[in-house]
Amino acid sequence: MTATAPTPTVQTLTHWLNNAPAAGQSGRSAPVYNPATGQIQAQVPLASTAEIDATVQIATAAAKIWRATSLGKRSEVIFKFRELLVARKDELARIITREHGKVHSDALGEIARGIENVEYACGIPNLLKGGYSEQVSTGVDVYSIQQPLGVVAGITPFNFPAMVPLWMLANALACGNAFILKPSEKDPSSALFLAELLKDAGLPDGVLSVVHGDKEAVDAILNHPGIAAVSFVGSTPIARYIYETGTKNGKRVQALGGAKNHMLVLPDADIGMAADAAVSAAYGSAGERCMAISVLVAVGDSGDRLISAIQERIPALKIGPGDVTGNEMGPLITREHRDKVAGYIASAEQQGATVVVDGREAQFDGDGFFLGVSLLDNVKPGMAAYDDEIFGPVLCVVRADSYAEGLELINSNEFGNGTAIFTRDGGAARQFQFDVEVGMVGVNVPIPVPVAYYSFGGWKASLFGDTHMYGPEGVKFYTRSKVITSRWPDPASSKVDLGFPQNR
Ligand code: NAD
Repeated sequence: MTATAPTPTVQTLTHWLNNAPAAGQSGRSAPVYNPATGQIQAQVPLASTAEIDATVQIATAAAKIWRATSLGKRSEVIFKFRELLVARKDELARIITREHGKVHSDALGEIARGIENVEYACGIPNLLKGGYSEQVSTGVDVYSIQQPLGVVAGITPFNFPAMVPLWMLANALACGNAFILKPSEKDPSSALFLAELLKDAGLPDGVLSVVHGDKEAVDAILNHPGIAAVSFVGSTPIARYIYETGTKNGKRVQALGGAKNHMLVLPDADIGMAADAAVSAAYGSAGERCMAISVLVAVGDSGDRLISAIQERIPALKIGPGDVTGNEMGPLITREHRDKVAGYIASAEQQGATVVVDGREAQFDGDGFFLGVSLLDNVKPGMAAYDDEIFGPVLCVVRADSYAEGLELINSNEFGNGTAIFTRDGGAARQFQFDVEVGMVGVNVPIPVPVAYYSFGGWKASLFGDTHMYGPEGVKFYTRSKVITSRWPDPASSKVDLGFPQNR
């Protein structure tokens, strides 16, 4: 038997419809690996167009009931969901580690950031308050209300199998929509676990559906007239496709794409602190974070000091299976992805970069998709390792002579997700915040993921659409506003008037 052949213990996963598991009908499925062992552990069904259509019918019926459910009751369900998530976070973290590979503590971190979004959505009665203007004309009042869109869908990436679904579904459901989640087929079980918790929290049947799938299911979502809006998080080429296809079909779309996050280190920075931050942000979760630091821009004489400080820290990193206590970094998501990441180290070397630490030299037992961490110096635009999103444990160092040169590098990059500046100079940090063309900026903070009561989103090729994810912009995305102009006249004063209504 080869390492990738199914074993008799391979589990068959299901979709989730009407608050219960539902077997796949299409006859198509995909393998789900345990990246730490390289073994197939489950088969996930891939939904057909007909299955998406059946799901939309269920969701459409449920949305009518859910939108009429009181705000107090909706927020009670979300509160209960939050309690269950907190109580069962360890189980969920184990599911994440088993399918994604990230270490248990990192999985718990992802869940904690997801729970923040659920906590934000608990306040939905306050978030949906409209405006009211009395006496805009004699006896006339105007007020605005926020109403749900109906059926909305979310399509999520492999790298945060719990947090990104929570970014979307907490607000979408609290706003009164029915939500259809199409999680990554690489690590689909976390979505099923979330669905079960929502059922236990009292969410009515049909309000949340989980359908697994690949391009066929995604296209069926994008083309279905019964789905009003699509939230997407994933790579840039797919984000662009989702945005273009969804909007062409008249849907509201927010599509978050890939990233190449630069950390600018000025010569006055605390080099030890900057090195700690760079190592943590580049290699955490094996670099498979959309907010990972993948490029370190070392200004002036900070370069040599940073390289040696980072090099010093690397041997202490503990890499191994995510379910072993003490490990800090797990495997990559698939064998193909691991090999692709390793290919960038080879190409950087050929294109003139200096391989200071070569992750390909690290040795691991078994058939897991492991790769050691790499540090590349003298990287330049035009090299594949700089131009592409590697999405692996590879940190590229680019040397810059000045702040202006570093800033120009960041601003001319096609992506604009996250960035950070490390300095002791408050004036320089403030100037950077003003100048930089990136959506999320850290000042001595390497991974500046906004808290749940702000919103998350990059600029340029990191986001298609005009609405960021979660927080106030999430609530706006999942609702449409209605403005009511109201008069309760005395019938005795009523008369025909063909003139255009005026306010004075
Ligand atoms: P991906 O684009 O391959 O997949 C994302 C989703 O799209 C999955 O559900 C997948 O099934 C679906 N999909 C894949 N190929 C498709 C196709 N041809 N047609 C239609 N649907 C398709 O991304 P991934 O590899 O799962 O995740 C990693 C990427 O996501 C990285 O680029 C990372 O930067 C990005 N990401 C971005 C953010 C952000 O907030 N900007 C957050 C997390 C991840």
